[in-house]
Amino acid sequence: MSAPRAESTAPQTDEKTTAFLRKTFREYYFRHHGDVEVPTMIESREFGYIPFGKGMIRHLSYNSPGDLAADLVKQAPSSVFCSNGTYSDPTLPMDEKGWKGAELIFDIDANDIPTTCRAKHSFWTCKDCGKIMRSAERPEHCSKCQGVSLVQLHWSCGVCLAAAKEQAGRLIGFLTNDFGVPNDRISVYFSGNRGYHLHVDDKRFEPLEPSARAQIANYIKGTGLVRPQGAEYTFAGGWAGRIATAGLGQSSKLEPAVAAFGSRIDESVTTDIHRIFRMPGTLHGNSGLLKARVHDLQAFKPEYDPVVLGDDEIEVSVRGSPAFTLRGRTFGPYSGEEATVPTYAAVYMMTKGLAQVLT
Ligand SMILES: [Zn+2]
Ligand SMILES: [Zn+2]
Repeated sequence: MSAPRAESTAPQTDEKTTAFLRKTFREYYFRHHGDVEVPTMIESREFGYIPFGKGMIRHLSYNSPGDLAADLVKQAPSSVFCSNGTYSDPTLPMDEKGWKGAELIFDIDANDIPTTCRAKHSFWTCKDCGKIMRSAERPEHCSKCQGVSLVQLHWSCGVCLAAAKEQAGRLIGFLTNDFGVPNDRISVYFSGNRGYHLHVDDKRFEPLEPSARAQIANYIKGTGLVRPQGAEYTFAGGWAGRIATAGLGQSSKLEPAVAAFGSRIDESVTTDIHRIFRMPGTLHGNSGLLKARVHDLQAFKPEYDPVVLGDDEIEVSVRGSPAFTLRGRTFGPYSGEEATVPTYAAVYMMTKGLAQVLT
């Protein structure tokens, strides 16, 4: 069992900023709780959420979409999760829940893709004084207070997001071509921050143990791909087909083929049958962007389409931020300054611990 990937930067927010975030999320859920995608068999799912400024609460269950909606408005959590597994009693401790099965899920995070732009937006935050430093490698100490508790600020630019989209497209290719999953059984979502989530609604996968899911994940990543002794890849399907089509059939190394065709999924997500996964139609607590359903992957604009919060301008104090683009407008870079920005941009920085409500 594991909780969703936690951000390594625990945002340091003051009470006023936390209150602003909670109010903004509450207003969103008050108006849009009907857009939250409620899973099938809701009473068999485990739910969890992270309140602003606090730790995860899980092993919750709801009997109806109305109960869930009421709690979202009441709690206004920073992030909301639901199990891909179904259980006899989802509120019991994990080994007593009575696991019945789990949908196959995939996570692609831009942060796992070695884009060349990465060094340009590699930032580090000092946990002691909040100073933000740009450096490809971990700095030895904070340039302001000399402290050594530095955490990397995960950041993804348009190039990184496009690379994640490309990986998602490859994953869809594996699922449809190699595993015979019909296109309409694959739900594609923008994760709400830096990547894509895919949910597969295909009964064949639901009873699979973690070891079988690991084999699927490894196949898709191209992990452990070996060339049969003396063989050339000339077959029509699967990896062999991909390698032959690309003219790599006689190359002695397989790394180029893995780089060209493999999809960089996070296998720890796919193999975890007890995971609680961010709910589609909810806001991401480290961005304020929506985990949004993607109907057309090529046409989807990750810096535009999931921006759902309002554009009322508010004044913020920004400790520091790399430049970022949302809804067609570029903000920053900022370095220890005040700024007046739309609510969605203010929330984006506040949820990353980079800005505060101006007092
Ligand atoms: Zn410092
Ligand atoms: Zn980038």
